[in-house]
Amino acid sequence: MGQRVSIKNEAEIAKMRLAGRVNAEALQEVKALLHPGITTAELDKVAETVIRDHGGIPTFKGYPGPYPYPATLTISIDREMVHGIPSGRVLREGEIVSVDCGTTLNGFVADSAFTAGVGEVSKEAARLMRVTKEALYKGIAQMRPKNYLGDVSFAIQRHVEGHGYHVPRQYTGHGVGREMHEPPQVPNFGTPGRGLRLQKGMTIALEPMVLVGTPHTRVLADRWTVVSRDDSLTAHFEHTIAVTDDEPLVLTAL
Ligand code: MG
Ligand code: MG
Repeated sequence: MGQRVSIKNEAEIAKMRLAGRVNAEALQEVKALLHPGITTAELDKVAETVIRDHGGIPTFKGYPGPYPYPATLTISIDREMVHGIPSGRVLREGEIVSVDCGTTLNGFVADSAFTAGVGEVSKEAARLMRVTKEALYKGIAQMRPKNYLGDVSFAIQRHVEGHGYHVPRQYTGHGVGREMHEPPQVPNFGTPGRGLRLQKGMTIALEPMVLVGTPHTRVLADRWTVVSRDDSLTAHFEHTIAVTDDEPLVLTAL
């Protein structure tokens, strides 16, 4: 593949686990506040406070892009798939909200996301969230030494498309460690037995993004927010995972 994939030792993985725990706490606090009436900027502030109170740095803030990313979280609602910028927008009953967060602690990064509903959501929205989360865990289950990245990608794609949904082609999971985005890229579609061979010490952010109506996306005028091209609903779940000798280790769980 020509990609240099860094291998982390036990001490480095332990540091990533600490970053992952702080990141999980930030996300948990945000999740508890997903009620009608709160603004996405208020959620962002809560996450930043949790991260900084633990001595961490919000990884996304200042991240290079069309312009430096201005917030701690990306908060993407309904048709917004990823990279929505927190603002004065007020959450409303029935919306589904994807919250993505990165924490840097002691030089290592953890990256994780979830999607949850605001109050009662439609059956379709609930099904979409369930299938997306299941797809993440189908992918995680393949993250074993000697499996190929294609096995991981395929497991995600098969689960999503088997439910009639779509995965984007341009947005992928990725290696993570000292940097938020390291090689390899990990698409949410692939061919079993192809691509990089997994080995102990690889740390990867797996992140199925799922769209109801189309695999195609477009970017809004703010130049960050990615939406489904047909404005159909989307969802996103992500964990940072370490490949070990046996069971994959979820570094961004509480
Ligand atoms: Mg993320
Ligand atoms: Mg990521």
